[in-house]
Amino acid sequence: MLRTTQVGDVTEIKMGRSRDGSTVLYWVAAYLIDGTLIDTGCDYTKKELAELLSGSKPLSKIINTHYHEDHVGGNALLGERFGLRAIAHPDTIRLMGGKYDLYPYQREIWGYPEPCPADAIETWLNEEGARFRVIESPGHCKGHISLFEENRGILFSGDIWVGEHPKTARTEENVPQIIADLRKFEELRPKIMFASLGKIVPEPAEVIKRTRTYLEETRDTILELHSEGKSSEQIRDELFGRESVLAEVTQYQLSTKIFIESFLRSV
Ligand SMILES: [Zn+2]
Repeated sequence: MLRTTQVGDVTEIKMGRSRDGSTVLYWVAAYLIDGTLIDTGCDYTKKELAELLSGSKPLSKIINTHYHEDHVGGNALLGERFGLRAIAHPDTIRLMGGKYDLYPYQREIWGYPEPCPADAIETWLNEEGARFRVIESPGHCKGHISLFEENRGILFSGDIWVGEHPKTARTEENVPQIIADLRKFEELRPKIMFASLGKIVPEPAEVIKRTRTYLEETRDTILELHSEGKSSEQIRDELFGRESVLAEVTQYQLSTKIFIESFLRSV
């Protein structure tokens, strides 16, 4: 299922698998600006996305923020339909090219993306009316990039910002690096932020700063408790009460314990 929203020059395309035609398990967003498409959703929604884009002005570029299956699922079909190869960070190209296992919840919600070739992205991209600066932001996973459209102050943050008070992380996430990525975002002074979860944040400077400050304070508390000899489970229960409900659903690929251990790995 697809839902589009126009915000200034940006079209938000929210996508999600629907089994009954009305409810969606999980939304993810791609963004279209001046013929450039940022991310391509998951395998289950690729045909709908290709249909939607066939009716709009021709695509000139497909950019992937990272290799996850809910961001690259339409690459192969769109590439074929529009005669384009996606561009991405070299680490993303390597990770997209290899066969990797998905957990059952990932297969259910997003499905396997078709492998497809892609080209390495440059640091700057000049398009008609748009000038994108590529911001390396590997806190979410290796090769993750965010895009800053300088002319209009638009930040496409990918999966770096998911909310003001995150308390879970995936095994491949590096939360101290996410803090560094958020600092880079603050320095850009964006006028609006489009996050891959489908959240649109106008004047996001304060929100980004609050998120970064929350993570730094949480890190300091975690490290203090750790220095008192507490285990990651004890720290989790003391700070957050219990494990996140997402942990069981994701077979512990995403959990509060991993979030805490990401800080402990950095000492
Ligand atoms: Zn992701």
